[in-house]
Amino acid sequence: MSAAAWPARAERWMPETSAFIDGAFTAIAGATAFETISPRDGAVIARLEDGGAPAADAAVAAARKAFDDGRWRRLEPRARAEIMRRFAALVLQSRDELALAESLDVGKPITQMLTAEVDETAEAIRWYADAIDKVHDEVLPSPEHALLTVTREPMGVIAAIVPWNFSIIIAAWKFAPALATGNSVVLKPSELSTLPALILARLAAEAGIPDGVFNVVPGRGATVGAALAQHPDVDKVTFTGSTAVGRRVAVNAASSNGKAVAIEAGGKSPQVVFEDVEDLDRLAETVAASILYNAGQACTAGSRLLVQEGVHDQVVEKVLAAAAAWVPADPLSEATKMGAIASRAQLDGILATLTANRSGDLLTGGEPVEPVRGGFYLPPTIVDHVDNASPIAQQEVFGPVLTISTFRDEAEALHLANDTVYGLAASVWTGSLGRAHRMTREMHAGIVWANDFNALGIDRPFGGVKGTGSGRDKGVQALTQYTTTKTSWIDFRGAGG
Ligand code: NAD
Repeated sequence: MSAAAWPARAERWMPETSAFIDGAFTAIAGATAFETISPRDGAVIARLEDGGAPAADAAVAAARKAFDDGRWRRLEPRARAEIMRRFAALVLQSRDELALAESLDVGKPITQMLTAEVDETAEAIRWYADAIDKVHDEVLPSPEHALLTVTREPMGVIAAIVPWNFSIIIAAWKFAPALATGNSVVLKPSELSTLPALILARLAAEAGIPDGVFNVVPGRGATVGAALAQHPDVDKVTFTGSTAVGRRVAVNAASSNGKAVAIEAGGKSPQVVFEDVEDLDRLAETVAASILYNAGQACTAGSRLLVQEGVHDQVVEKVLAAAAAWVPADPLSEATKMGAIASRAQLDGILATLTANRSGDLLTGGEPVEPVRGGFYLPPTIVDHVDNASPIAQQEVFGPVLTISTFRDEAEALHLANDTVYGLAASVWTGSLGRAHRMTREMHAGIVWANDFNALGIDRPFGGVKGTGSGRDKGVQALTQYTTTKTSWIDFRGAGG
């Protein structure tokens, strides 16, 4: 498309703005309006409805009814799979609309959406559809006169509360396995990225997901989010977002009906570089991408670079050169590699951390830029010689901000890597296979890489330890996250046996 084509489409686009409940876009009486603002240029895209607790109630009631009458869970597994495959195909067919919605909503490069995120969303839906008839239940050894089985049953109503940074992908990591196993879902998107979720709702219905099985409720965290976490008729809440909010969700889940809860939260992922690293160029490119992709607004972002003293200067020089290729620019230009910071508040938070920082030397960045007037943008920002105990090395900045610290030996490297309250991802760069093994084994993280970063795939469990929470998305294992086991003992004696 020509350079002006996407902005022109954005002008014409009329997004859905109300909740999708029981198979239809539904206005909720008494809903308050909130604006969704594009960080591309600070302009209002749409006014959305926050229906608060009544909207959450209506969605949960629809989901419960659909679950109880079995319109989805009792469908033949193959029929469920077929509908979900159709859903995945419709996501691909709606590539442009989804890309435009998310790019406008959170300022990510349209090309990132067109070439990666729409595909990954569709892949997640298709992957769990394909898995439906490949995971089997168990028959346990039993006496002749009885049958002993352990079967997996859907939990019921799943509330999925998701963040804005990879909104449709993370939503699909949750709703796809939940739907595949026969549950009903109420999805609560972030107030910053609601528009793509409402498109998904429409596509799910078009694909044939029965009414009430997949609901989307826009709204603020404190209203709709809290109401879902507290809801007495929700069987599980699966949350991805910040650690502080995740803990509130867990408290609300426990103090309401004791629903099952999965929390996936923040990260402060270390990348540990030893002097024996073999390919400094690939290292530098990977480090730059790990912190600058999505303008650093990634839970796995490799935000702490820990470098062995002898290789520090070379690594810094190469990382700076690699980072220079990431220039914030108009998200709606197909040439753009790095877009906007998702909101004014997000940018202000990053700048406040930088202003307060008293540790290290700022090598590049730190000042906002405005490639599109009125928008929120920050160039790659790199701070060297950072004390790992300082706030900038300990707090999740969630922006294109890399800190660099040095270490002397493996013991110190491991100490610094693990000296964080988070534990999502970690990587080690070394030419020694033994060291790669030792470090990957000892680093506190749910996902570790040696000589790579962000080698991700739908087949690999994703989640963390410590302050990141213990929830897991993705992989075959996710299917078990939305089911409970039922142990059945059927004695044939007295039953014609
Ligand atoms: P956030 O915690 O502010 O919001 C996440 C979701 O929770 C949103 O939908 C929000 O509306 C909702 N929410 C807010 N208050 C709530 C409440 N009181 N009760 C229930 N729901 C509430 O996070 P964010 O700013 O949207 O996303 C960024 C965060 O997400 C970062 O910390 C990032 O690391 C994390 N994240 C983690 C992963 C992972 O898999 N571990 C993936 C992506 C993002």
